Amino acid sequence: MGMSVGGAAIHMDQGFVSLPFYAPESLIKGVFVNERGQRFINEDCYHGRIGHHIMQQLGDRIYLLVDGATFQQPAEFTRIGIAAAGDTWEEVERDLDMPPGTLSATVSNYNRHAAEGADPLFHKAAKWLKPLDEPPFVALDCRIDYAFYPHFTLGGLDTLPTGQVLSERRVPIHGLYAAGRTSCGLPRWGGGYSSGMSLADATFFGRQAGRHAAAAACRS
Ligand SMILES: Cc1cc2nc3c(=O)[nH]c(=O)nc-3n(C[C@H](O)[C@H](O)[C@H](O)COP(=O)(O)OP(=O)(O)OC[C@H]3O[C@@H](n4cnc5c(N)ncnc54)[C@H](O)[C@@H]3O)c2cc1C
Repeated sequence: MGMSVGGAAIHMDQGFVSLPFYAPESLIKGVFVNERGQRFINEDCYHGRIGHHIMQQLGDRIYLLVDGATFQQPAEFTRIGIAAAGDTWEEVERDLDMPPGTLSATVSNYNRHAAEGADPLFHKAAKWLKPLDEPPFVALDCRIDYAFYPHFTLGGLDTLPTGQVLSERRVPIHGLYAAGRTSCGLPRWGGGYSSGMSLADATFFGRQAGRHAAAAACRS
């Protein structure tokens, strides 16, 4: 509707994606890998950041690797089940049809540094670092087409802080205001999004828009 009267929509390719894999929080001590058995993120970061980076991986197979000490059943609503389990990481790697020396090398490198309380690749905090060395070893199945990935779209009408909607040339369109998820607002991209940014900008800029519209009506 906003576009039909000349409003410009921006950042329409962006969205928020989460994977609510914790609680149980011991799962944060696990390691995410893609279908090549490669790690790609610090698992203790914001769940929306994890969801965003999962979407950047090649393929739709994503696993969370845990050992006997860190495994706990994920909540039922997450639809995260067990993809493979074994007495060695090589066995798990084989069951997942990954080339030999891929996933097992990732875990061995992670374990070596975790034993010293370090994560030189992704800087996960020491509190969440534990070598995954106690069998049985488990790959939790976080497949994109099956596990629960709550999401919503970002992007929307381009606005000024007053809530006035802008045209492609960034000229305010007389009498047209937008706030909340009809507008692009503050969250410009999924990778930088965090909880609260939608409700905060909807309420703050909604108020600004209301004030501006009321003042304009009084003046006219
Ligand atoms: C799973 C999930 C988790 C989220 N978590 C957070 C969070 O932690 N923090 C945060 O800040 N945000 C969060 N959000 C985002 C946030 O909830 C939304 O961005 C926000 O509610 C948008 O508010 P809004 O008023 O712009 O739109 P909406 O809440 O979508 O309201 C639009 C309203 O317009 C109505 N409507 C639509 N078309 C018409 C029509 N033609 N005529 C009349 N009425 C119409 C709809 O029925 C709806 O009631 C989350 C969203 C999801 C989906």
